[in-house]
Formats: sequence, C-alpha cells, structure tokens
Amino acid sequence: MDAPPCASVAVGRPVAGPFTYLLPAGHKGPLLPGQRLLVPFGRGRALGFYLGPAEPPSGAVLKPIAQVLETEPALPPDVFRLLAFAAAHYRYPLGEALRAALPPGLTQAVEDRPVTPAGVKRVVATEAAAQAALARAPAQAAALGYLLAVGGGAELDELVRAVPGAREAVRRLVARGLVQVETLEVPPLIRAGLGQGRPARLTEGQAAAVQAVTEALDASAFRPFLLQGVTGSGKTEVYLRAAEYALASGKGALVLVPEIALTPQLVGRFRSRFGAQVAVLHSGLSDRERRGHWQALRAGRVRLAVGVRSAVFAPVARLGLLVVDEEHDPSFKQDEKLRYQARDLAVVRARDLGAVVVLGSATPSLESYENARRGRYQLLELPARVDDRPLPTVQLVDLRRRPRASGEAPPALAEESAQALSETLARGQQAILFLNRRGHSTTLVCQACGQSLSCAQCDVALTLHLYPPAVQCHYCGATHAVPEVCRACGGPLLRLGSGTERVEAEVQARCPTARVARLDRDSVGTGERLTERLAAFARGELDVLVGTQMVAKGHDFPGVTLVCVVSADTGLLLPDFRAAERTFQLLTQVAGRAGRGQDVGRVLVQTYNPEAEPVARAAAHDFVGFVARELEWRRALAYPPFSRLAAIRLEGADPGRTASGARALANLLERSLPPAASGVRLLGPAPAPLSRLKGLTRWQLLLKAPQHRVLRPVLDAAERALPSLPPGVRGILDVDPGAML
Ligand code: ADP
Ligand code: ZN
Repeated sequence: MDAPPCASVAVGRPVAGPFTYLLPAGHKGPLLPGQRLLVPFGRGRALGFYLGPAEPPSGAVLKPIAQVLETEPALPPDVFRLLAFAAAHYRYPLGEALRAALPPGLTQAVEDRPVTPAGVKRVVATEAAAQAALARAPAQAAALGYLLAVGGGAELDELVRAVPGAREAVRRLVARGLVQVETLEVPPLIRAGLGQGRPARLTEGQAAAVQAVTEALDASAFRPFLLQGVTGSGKTEVYLRAAEYALASGKGALVLVPEIALTPQLVGRFRSRFGAQVAVLHSGLSDRERRGHWQALRAGRVRLAVGVRSAVFAPVARLGLLVVDEEHDPSFKQDEKLRYQARDLAVVRARDLGAVVVLGSATPSLESYENARRGRYQLLELPARVDDRPLPTVQLVDLRRRPRASGEAPPALAEESAQALSETLARGQQAILFLNRRGHSTTLVCQACGQSLSCAQCDVALTLHLYPPAVQCHYCGATHAVPEVCRACGGPLLRLGSGTERVEAEVQARCPTARVARLDRDSVGTGERLTERLAAFARGELDVLVGTQMVAKGHDFPGVTLVCVVSADTGLLLPDFRAAERTFQLLTQVAGRAGRGQDVGRVLVQTYNPEAEPVARAAAHDFVGFVARELEWRRALAYPPFSRLAAIRLEGADPGRTASGARALANLLERSLPPAASGVRLLGPAPAPLSRLKGLTRWQLLLKAPQHRVLRPVLDAAERALPSLPPGVRGILDVDPGAML
C-alpha cells in the first residue's frame, strides 16, 4: 500500500516548525507553496501554509488538513521565497513570518471573503500642500495635517471620522488645488498630474545616474547600485525618473523610506508625479486601506509602492525596481519578532527577481560602501548640490574652552551659537537646533553625596522633564514626581546635561520674539502633529525648530541657513561598534539641512571632542576620509563589513539564574564551534551594555565569522539550546544585529 500523501506545513503561530499533516481526504490537484490552509493545532485550529510534500514520520498518528482555504496562494511566489529566506536567515518561525506579511482579512483561520475596494474615495494631498498657508482656515489645516501625517492620503470616510468638518474642508482644499479626490479603482495609467514639479533639466550627475539605472532596467537582470549623493544633490529626482521608466516599461517599483511621517515631502513628490499609481504603506493605515493597497498591488492595478521597512514584503507585481532611500538609516532594522534588515532583504529580493536595486544615501552604511568598493555594487555619485549650491560651512565650537561658572550647569547654547542664532533671525532666516536628547536635564545629581537619580527597573539615569513636570526613564517609561531633594541624603539636586526642553527655553529667553517650536516625541508624537509642525516650518510660520533626530532627516527647507548641533557627543561613546559611523551620519544629515535655498548655510557643531574622527570629518564634509579610517579599524577588529555577526541575548528576572544560563549556553556553543581556521569566534558571555532593563537582567554573547555561512551550524546549536535555558530566562537570536545595546 502507498504511504498516505503528506504535506509539510508552516503554522501561523510563533512556534518552530514545520509540521506534517495528511492531505485532506479526497483532495485533488496540486498544492502550491504558500497556499493557505486550515489545520488542527493544539486544541483548536490554526492558519497554515503549505510548504511541500513530506515523508510520513514512522509511528506518528497524523491529522489531516482541515481545509484548503484558497486555490492559489495569496502570497505571490517571490514574496513567499523572500519570507522563507528571511525566516531561515534571521531564525524566526516561518509560519508566523508568512502570517505577519499578509494583509488583515487573510490572517485568520477562517475562510476568506474577497474584499472589493471598488468605489472607495481617497483624498490625496498634492505637492503644493506642504507649502500651503492655512492659518485662517483651521478645519482645512486640520484635514490637511491629518493627510500629511498619514503619508499624504487617506480614505474620505476615515478623514471625515477623524477630523470634524472634513467633508466641507476637502471641498475647499480641492478648489485650492491642495488635495485631489480619487476613487481607488482608477485605470492603471499615469494620470494627468504627471509633470507637476518635474524639473526640466537634470544635473549632470542626475542624468548619468538615471541613464545607468534605466539601462539596467532594460537589461532585466540583477543590478545593484549605490547612489551616493551629497545632501541636496537631488537623489529623489533620480528615484522618480527610475520609477517612471520602470512603470513605462511595464514593471512595478518599490521605494523604501525610513519613516513616512518624517518624509512627507518625498511621499508628496511621488504622489504628485504618479497620483493613484502609488500605494503608500505605513503603520498608520486602517485595516481596510492596508488590505485595499495590498490587493491592488497584488493584482497589478497599482504598480508603485512607497513604504517603510515592512513594505519590503509588499506584493508588487512584476517588480523590476527597488529603491532604498537613506539606506544607512537604523530604522530599516526591525528589532522584534522577525529581526530583519529591510535594506538587505531588498537586495536579496532584487537578486532573486533579476531586478534593479538602488540604495541611496549621502552617508552610505559601511557595508554598502564596502560592497561598492569591491565592485559588487555599482557606485553612482552626485558630488554637487542642485544648481551648484555650496555645501554649508561647518564650524566646530569647542566647549572645553568655555569659561566655567561654578555650581550651575552652563547654558546649553555656547555664546557663539546664541549669537549666530540672533543674527540669523535678524536677517529673517530660519534655524534648526539639533540635540538628540528629549527632556530638560539628563540627570539630577546630588550636590552633597554625588548620587544621581536612577530608574528602579533599569540601569539608567532618570531624565527631568518640565512639560509636564516629571522624572522619567526613557527605557521603561516609568514616571515619578520631581523630587525636591536627594532621596539618599536630602541634599540639593543639581540639574545636569541638556535636553531639547532646556534648549527651547534658552532660545525663547534669548530671542523672545522668535517663533520657536520643539520637535521630539514628547511634543509631537509620531503622526499628525509632527507633520503639521514640519509643514508650518516649511511655510515660514516658525523661525526656530529645536528637536531630536526628527529634525535631521531628509527635510528640504529652503529658508534654513543656520543649523546648530547642540552636542555632537551624545552618541559618540555608546558601546556599539557603529557609534562613530552613526555620529558621522547624523552630523552630516543634520548639517545638510542648512543652505538648501538661495542663501548660503552655516553649521555650528558644539562638542567636547573636536578631534574625534566622526566629528572632525563630518565638519570637513570628508566622507571618504572618515570611511577610510573607519574601515581600517573595522578590519583590524574584524567587525562588519569584514565579518558577519550574530548576537544572542538572554534576559531574566533572576540575576544569578540569567548569568548561569548565559555561561552554560556559552560552554555549549564553545564545544560546537567549528575549528579555529574557520574564523568563527565567540565573545562573551558578558552583561549587555544595558545590563538591567524593565527589571530584567541582560546578558549577551556575540558570534563573529568571516562569512555568514560558517555561523550557521553554531546558530543551529544555539537555537536548539534556547528552549532549555533555566526557567524564567528568555533567549533570542539577533542575526546581523543593528544597535548592540
Ligand atoms: P537630496 O535627497 O539629495 O538631499 P532632494 O532630492 O531633496 O535632495 O533635492 C533637493 C532639491 O532640489 C529639491 O527641492 C528638489 O526639488 C530640487 N531638484 C532636484 N533635482 C533638480 C533639478 N534637476 N533641477 C532643479 N531642481 C532640482
Ligand atoms: Zn526604567
């Protein structure tokens, strides 16, 4: 008798798999990888995904698949392959990864009802929206603010629910040309809006880059590019032209950006050029919108997607072009569940499809830069700003030389910076002040006993906030009333270390007539108010923007002539091998906000470390010099891009048990390491740099290898060992880790 036909199935739960099931009785016809199933699981049922035929295990009693939910896989084959790669590479259960990539409505273990988004009205902001002056039309401003905050477009119904009076406001906004209303099912052709804001002439660099990319698109083969363009060199226009060309050749395109709310201008430019051809994918979408976009892309009705990291799994049909803007940005790494690097997956997907991938940045990651140096990626350079505008002059302000007042903490702004700010405002120009720390003071230190106020749950100091008054842990969120005196000895407390609140207060005190706004998570959250504030600054309704790295991203504010970095040192000493790289990138990005209009820009960088490589090189606009030194150092210490890493992190409530779990795991891995010649090295166990977080003790092991391939058996062993850690100790694998904290 033949063995019963069996199937290997990934179950849509965060459990290791795959599992073997019998095919449903009487099932005919082939099953395809990724096809959704309903399977008995535990005491209930679960969503499953067909992976392939399986050998029946001897002795086990198998259960049959309860139902085959679809005749064709909902996930397109290339997305299925990408997820299978990601689940294996990043060590995460495949079924759960597949489930998470599906749109709402397809993720339940029930039979699917097809959804038709036909006739749904969408309101979409035009390019003019970012500059609109709506101070005297609050309802319109609110409606537009909402649209910009959610990526430039939303369903009319959603908008009407969210903003009172939106229906009437939309009518007026349409009349002003600030929004368009479109129905979701528009014919798949580039609409009449094409050409709006499209520069007639490309710069020399842009033209060369566009030509290289379009030729590669013609070749329909895997071609990776690194587009390195200084800030303001017009990288976005290259992406737009490449996307136009891809669409015109019948291909689909996917553009990944770090954060939608921070890139309304980029999204707006794609919108105004491609209209309803663009699906904007971000975390703020309603379930219906998400599903609508997903199905429109899957069916090829919409062929261009712009989205955040998770959009790397978007089902763009006939995908021929992938773009990763600001490819160095840490937000492309997901730090929970499936811990993937979206930029890396974009390259994997392009290779698999024989597609073109463009990684763009003013400050490429060392990984991408090294790939270009070795000839794996073709380097495209935009060495000059559009219209030959000069890069801003950068001047270091050495804080060590400041006169010291005893007792009180010195002002956050050095005299030189405060002066420059006054001058800028007197000329009617705008300024950005950047400090990557929220709150008023970073520590409260007792003047008598020297103790600083720290979190009871985490190994960090509490930050003082004044709006509203509280001391707060920035890691676990714990908040307490502001203490009057030291808890330990009752001595007076000194407020040390500046945050954005203090800088804002200083600016206000120094320039009382200036219109100052703060841009950080406390003041704007991440959505609507953030984008509205950026738009208000772009319209010239604000003079000074004080903020965290939110102000550093790719904004294009022509009125800004002064950028002041209040402290270049905040990230310099982090125990992370990328600390210097991140500092260089952030300083270059924020400096790049100055002088993008008619007037020349000026940048002041306050620092206690003027000789530190990333600070000095960023001031000199010397990317090549910085990278040369940094690569030397990385090579000497065998860090990426000269090695591959995997971190194993353990955390548990019991410090002793967590430590012994870490040591036991290290011993076990030590024994499974390949011979020394393979170059695999195990570092640790050691307490993690943040050794206590949310009441849990944290330990870390780090694996290094010349190639990822040789790490695999060690990671297999680690994966097998994690379930037998001591009770209460949890372990996770982080392959190609981002931040090391
Ligand atoms: P980057 O992303 O490289 O910092 P952007 O793409 O924001 O630069 O471009 C900077 C500015 O130059 C934008 O306002 C853009 O509209 C404008 N721009 C881009 N290309 C051209 C061009 N060929 N001619 C005129 N203006 C351009
Ligand atoms: Zn805490």
